[in-house]
Amino acid sequence: MSETKEVVIIGSGPAGLTAAIYTARASLNPVIIEGEPSSTSDQPGGQLMLTTEVENFPGFPEGIMGPELMQNMRAQAARFGTDIVTAKVSKVDFSERPFKIWVGRDEEPTYLAETVIVSTGAQSLMLDIPGESRLMGYGVSTCATCDGFFFRDQEIAVVGGGDSALEEANFLTKFASKVHLLVRRDELRASQIMQDRAMANPKIEIVWNTSPLEVHGEQTVSHLTVVDNITKEERELKVSGMFVAIGHKPNTALFEGQLDMKPNGYLVAEPGTTITNVPGVFASGDVQDDYYRQAITAAGSGCQAALDAERWLEAQQD
Ligand code: NDP
Repeated sequence: MSETKEVVIIGSGPAGLTAAIYTARASLNPVIIEGEPSSTSDQPGGQLMLTTEVENFPGFPEGIMGPELMQNMRAQAARFGTDIVTAKVSKVDFSERPFKIWVGRDEEPTYLAETVIVSTGAQSLMLDIPGESRLMGYGVSTCATCDGFFFRDQEIAVVGGGDSALEEANFLTKFASKVHLLVRRDELRASQIMQDRAMANPKIEIVWNTSPLEVHGEQTVSHLTVVDNITKEERELKVSGMFVAIGHKPNTALFEGQLDMKPNGYLVAEPGTTITNVPGVFASGDVQDDYYRQAITAAGSGCQAALDAERWLEAQQD
């Protein structure tokens, strides 16, 4: 078993890498377990690895590609001596200190840690239909705030009937000429106020009982095949973008029974901090944020976690 680390960070999106930069510069010799490459957002770099251009991260007046931004953050963390481990955490035990963390198939704990910063993020639920992952970032998106701007004067589809979908649809009408809101049932799940707003918006057409079956396009989205769930009739819908807004799922399965969670699975942190119910374990980024969900807020929260961990370690020495 290895020596006890002062800080182990789990997850390498903007929150985890910012926590690494701060704790490395504070000479806490952090280890960051970054995940393993995959086609979902549950991979090194997190959700930004699935986007193209990021125009709202301060400091890049011309914008920057999501993967490049994450590579830059990773290089910055490495520059200050962060030990970056490309692997997945398979198990944690936060019941006593030092905390235990297992990686991959290791039988013995791979790391012992005085503090742990959990920044495993969240992932958008996806439809899992043909063309969806291939055209992710090329017309398929899960973030209207990030990508809406690229669809100026174009027709697009938003999938979902909850508050997220309606909020995205309303936001997208700032840019798009028309938004087809594809709702799989004959009812919306969203709150009444969001429903009223969507129904009053002349650019939104609600397409009831309809689900996408396939996303088409060579380089970018050209159209969808959609099905009427009552008549089973299939047709083409000509749109250049599809925003999937059917909910998010925080990556918290590892922490069940150990860290307090909200009913929706997100970790609970003390308001205004990253402190969890386990002293010495901190939660930062989307894994504890079901409201803002932005790269910049995640990065800010990673900084908070680093400072919270540093102060906690100092307090243990008093
Ligand atoms: P929800 O779970 O509330 O809604 C998901 C929607 O997606 C439902 O309409 C659901 O349909 C639909 N859906 C699920 N799976 C599929 C599928 N495979 N194909 C097509 N449609 C599908 O998720 P949200 O992200 O909208 O909201 C999550 C939480 O966040 C909610 O509590 C919401 O109120 C809150 N929120 C609040 C906001 C605000 O107040 N401004 C903004 C955004 C979110 P069905 O109804 O048939 O299950």
